[in-house]
Amino acid sequence: MTNEQIWQTVLGEVELTVSKANFTTWFKSTSIANQQNEVMIINVPNGFTKEWLENKYNKFILKSLKNIIPEIKEIKYIIGKITVNQQIRPQIYSLEKAEGNKLESYPEEIQKKDIPQEKMQISLNPKYTFGSFVVASSNELAQATCAAITKKIGKIYNPLFIYGGVGLGKTHLLQATGNEILKNYPNKKIKYTTSEKFTNELIQAIKNRRIAHFKNDHRKVDVLIIDDIQFLAGKEKTQEEFFHTFNTLHEANKQIIISSDRLPKAIPSLEERLISRFEGGMIADVGYPDFETRMAILKSKIKEMDFYIDDDALKYIATHIQKNVRELEGALNKLAATCQFQHQEPNLKTTEKILKDIISKTFKKSLTPRQIIKIVAEFYDITVESLKNKSRKKEIVRPRQISMFLMRKEIKSSYPDIGMHLGSRDHTTAIHAFEKINKEIEDNKNLEQEINLIKERLYV
Ligand code: ADP
Ligand code: MG
Repeated sequence: MTNEQIWQTVLGEVELTVSKANFTTWFKSTSIANQQNEVMIINVPNGFTKEWLENKYNKFILKSLKNIIPEIKEIKYIIGKITVNQQIRPQIYSLEKAEGNKLESYPEEIQKKDIPQEKMQISLNPKYTFGSFVVASSNELAQATCAAITKKIGKIYNPLFIYGGVGLGKTHLLQATGNEILKNYPNKKIKYTTSEKFTNELIQAIKNRRIAHFKNDHRKVDVLIIDDIQFLAGKEKTQEEFFHTFNTLHEANKQIIISSDRLPKAIPSLEERLISRFEGGMIADVGYPDFETRMAILKSKIKEMDFYIDDDALKYIATHIQKNVRELEGALNKLAATCQFQHQEPNLKTTEKILKDIISKTFKKSLTPRQIIKIVAEFYDITVESLKNKSRKKEIVRPRQISMFLMRKEIKSSYPDIGMHLGSRDHTTAIHAFEKINKEIEDNKNLEQEINLIKERLYV
C-alpha cells in the first residue's frame, strides 16, 4: 500500500465526519510526506491548515491512521515539504498555484521544473477517466452527454448541467470530461473549478485589485467546468460575476459544464436569470446505483487497487452500503488497508468485523434533533444560530419550519421539545410549522423534492 493509498483511506474517514466546506478547506491539499518510526509526517499547504489540523483534527487523524498502521503514535505536520520518493502529480500543485501565493513554501525545483506552464491553470486530476467510470442505468444519460461533449465542444449540450446526490460520481464525470478533452485536443484551455473556489478567488481578486486578471482567467477558456454550483446559493456578488462569465463564454460558443446536488430551481436564492440560463441547456441526473452496479463498481475498484476479495465479501459491502459510491470506496480502502497491515485474509468474516463500525453507522443511524437542525442549516446555507434566533426573514423562517417538520415526521419529537430545540419557541409554533409544511408538500412538487433531498442527507 502506498502512502497515497493510506492517506486516501484516512481522508475517506474524515470526509464522512466533517462538513464538506471544512473538508475542502483543511484536507484537500494534504498528503503523507513519510513515516519515521512511530511518527507520521504530513504535508500541509500553509500555517493555517497546520494549526487547524493540530488543534482540531489531530486526534481523529491519529485514530484513523492507527487503524491502518498500529505502531504510529504521533503525527507531525510540516508546511510544504515534499519528499523525493513521493509521487507528485503536477496538477496538485496547480491547485495550490491557483489558490494564491502559497507556492513560495514549496521547494524551488518543483516550482520551476515540474509544472509545465500551461498546466498551471488546470486542476484536473488524471485519476478520473471515463475508463474508470462504471456506466449503469442510474448514470447513463449523464455519462453519455459528458462523453458527447468531448467530441463536439460547445456545440451540442451547452451548458451541460449534471445533478444528483452526494458521492454519486458528478465530480468524477466532470473531471473525466475535462481529461478526455485535453487528451483529444491538447491545445484547448480547460478550467476546472468549484463554486467555492470561484467565490474565494473572486473575493481575493477584489481585495487585491486583480479583477481583470480574475475575469481573464475564467473567460479566456474553451471549457469552463464548475463543480458544486449549489454553493453559489445566497452569494449575490459571485452570482453576478458568474452570470457575466457565463454569458461571455456562452456567446462565444465555449463549453460550460456545471454540477449541482439539485435542480437549478431548487437552489436557494439562485437568481432567476441564472436558473433560466441553466435550464436552457441540457440537464442530466445521476441517481443511486442498484445492487448489480454497486458490485460492478466494487469489482472495478479492487482491480484498480490490485487487491483481491471474494464475492461473498463484496456482496456484503454492496448490500450494506447503498446510497453513496464514495462510501463504497471508503469501505473497500479500509478493508484493504486493515487486511494488509494486520495480515488478515479478506473474506466475509473479516470483512464483517472490519467494516462493523462503518456499516452500523449507515444502517442504524439514529437521528437526533441537533443533527436535523445542522443538516437543514447546511442545506440552505445558513447558520444553526439563525434557525434558533428571532429572525423573521423568509430565507430563515422557511428552513426553520422545515426543521420542525422533519423533527416531528422523522424522529417523532414532541412539539414542546421541537420548540425548545429551535430557540425556546412555544409548542404552538411547532404545531403550526408542521401542519403548514405537511399540507404544502401535497401540491408543491419542488418543496417535496427539496425535503427528499434533505432526508437523503439525514440518512446517508
Ligand atoms: P460527487 O461529486 O457526486 O459527490 P464523486 O464524483 O466525488 O461524487 O464520486 C465519489 C467517488 O465514487 C469517487 O471516487 C468516484 O471515482 C467514485 N464513483 C462514483 N460513481 C462511480 C462510477 N459510476 N464508477 C466508478 N466510480 C465511481
Ligand atoms: Mg463532487
